[in-house]
Amino acid sequence: MAFELPTLAYDYAALEPHIDARTMEIHHTRHHGAYTTNLNNALAGSEWENKKIEEILAEISKLSLAVRNNGGGYYNHNLFWEIMSPSGGGQPRGDLADAINNSFGSFEKFKELFSSAAMTRFGSGWAWLMKNGGKLSVTSTPNQDNPLMDVSEVKGYPILGLDVWEHAYYLKYQNRRNEYVAAFWNVINWEEVNRRFKGNR
Ligand code: MN
Repeated sequence: MAFELPTLAYDYAALEPHIDARTMEIHHTRHHGAYTTNLNNALAGSEWENKKIEEILAEISKLSLAVRNNGGGYYNHNLFWEIMSPSGGGQPRGDLADAINNSFGSFEKFKELFSSAAMTRFGSGWAWLMKNGGKLSVTSTPNQDNPLMDVSEVKGYPILGLDVWEHAYYLKYQNRRNEYVAAFWNVINWEEVNRRFKGNR
């Protein structure tokens, strides 16, 4: 069973004006598409090819750099498309809102920390909101790494992620990563983030 590029739940233009249609199309079809193809190629014929992506990431130190980069890219983008929505934005509610307040003091403080993690990640990588038990924390990782990988310095279950590779924003924002990070808050699908928060991890 090869990994498959997921279909998005919304059109490429649906996140305009915050994320432009051309960026979405290239990002999904070419970048995520390539991670998916390259992951399948790197695993073909091995004992790993029928495992779940989470199981592969948890033991990524045993696998090649190609699997680390493309397996991370495959998982991270699956998450990314799901935690955004044309009807997103605003603030989380319920248990997630309580956990954010308990962990960071307030939603505004969390927003500041997450934005800072996204801005200070040098070069390519991801900013994360992750869960360890009931506790939330903010971090970032380089390249296509994520906190599920056994090689990651920071570990946890990611419930929100922001891609800060230039391919995620350069067509519209060029070098203005700060504007892209600010725009991201308008498209966050808090229902999906809350669903991940309430998961078994
Ligand atoms: Mn990307």
